[in-house]
Amino acid sequence: MKSLSKHTEKFTDSVIRRMTRVSQKYGAINLSQGFPDFDPPREILDRLAQVSSLPHQYSVTWGAQNFREALAEKQSRCMGFDIDPDGEIVVTCGSTEAMMCAMMTVCNPSDRVIVFSPFYENYGADTILCGAEPIYVPLIPPGYGFDPNVLESAFRRDAKALILCNPSNPSGKVFSEDELRIIADMAVKHDAYVITDEVYEHIVYAPRRHTYIAALPGMRERTLSCGSLSKTYSITGWRLGYIIAQPGIIDAARKVHDFLTVGAAAPLQEAAIVGLKFPPSYYDALLETYSKKRTLFLNGLRAAGLSFTEPQAAYYVMIDVSEFGYASDLEFCEKLAERVGVGAVPGSSFFREPENRYIRLHFAKRDDTLTEALERLGDIRRKM
Ligand code: GLN
Repeated sequence: MKSLSKHTEKFTDSVIRRMTRVSQKYGAINLSQGFPDFDPPREILDRLAQVSSLPHQYSVTWGAQNFREALAEKQSRCMGFDIDPDGEIVVTCGSTEAMMCAMMTVCNPSDRVIVFSPFYENYGADTILCGAEPIYVPLIPPGYGFDPNVLESAFRRDAKALILCNPSNPSGKVFSEDELRIIADMAVKHDAYVITDEVYEHIVYAPRRHTYIAALPGMRERTLSCGSLSKTYSITGWRLGYIIAQPGIIDAARKVHDFLTVGAAAPLQEAAIVGLKFPPSYYDALLETYSKKRTLFLNGLRAAGLSFTEPQAAYYVMIDVSEFGYASDLEFCEKLAERVGVGAVPGSSFFREPENRYIRLHFAKRDDTLTEALERLGDIRRKM
């Protein structure tokens, strides 16, 4: 038999999603793959329940007209510039497809793409599947800042694009406006695209604020802003995401998307419109909910004597477990699920550097789930 695609030999399955399976195997509380164990807003579920009045055939391949209109209105308000629902949006199957589609829209084989490390693991696979070459620029723990000189030398290697996950998964970093201006100035100077992943745009803790890089001078025409409804409306299984960009880019992205997936699920787009039309108070309440969970969880981790960097955004915490002396963080996480009963993601799956000291936990769970997980973690020193 002829061998299969070389691309697929260069990356593993998703460690994040593998850890969900490991959690299930041991009956552990799954704080690995980031998704809520609470329901989406009632109003969205009520609309979904009206099954016979939902569309059940393909929507327009780049997204149902009424979904794009509602999304354009909401994102124009948030991003601070007018977005044309007819020319500047592709609706995708989650931001996972949005990112892959954006990469395939921008990159030729052997193009170079700048990726900050640690990074959300999909970007590695996305780059490889496009035949592109990643250039990694470290975000240095514990503060996860970057060295502008290192970034500039990455751009000088004729980088075609930079992937920006802001707010950042897994570090919880929020890129400041100053940092974003440095990145934007370099992107303009070196004529590179910026592909963003902004799925945590509404989960940014005070006093930090989210700045959309597309809104900075010179950036609108070179930014592909990817986002999702998954985290904002607690509907990760619905797989609704999007790319927002200038019409020339969107024309190309629509073609890629059309042949990848045809389109996102029509009935789910229709039901999610209810969420897109929520008033600003919905997003305040969402943030308040996550701020409280963050306080509960971080206090518990502190009480357990664990050391970590406080996330400025999103719902992940990177915990330094080097004191436990494990040679492999994969082994640590397997044992953690088995003995302590808590599922975590090994930090090495996010780093380009040979880093073995971190695990990632998330707190997008009901308070009783978090309290139970913290109780178990209180025993970590005895069991690990
Ligand atoms: N963003 C989530 C995480 O980092 C997972 C998303 C997914 O599995 N598609 O855990």
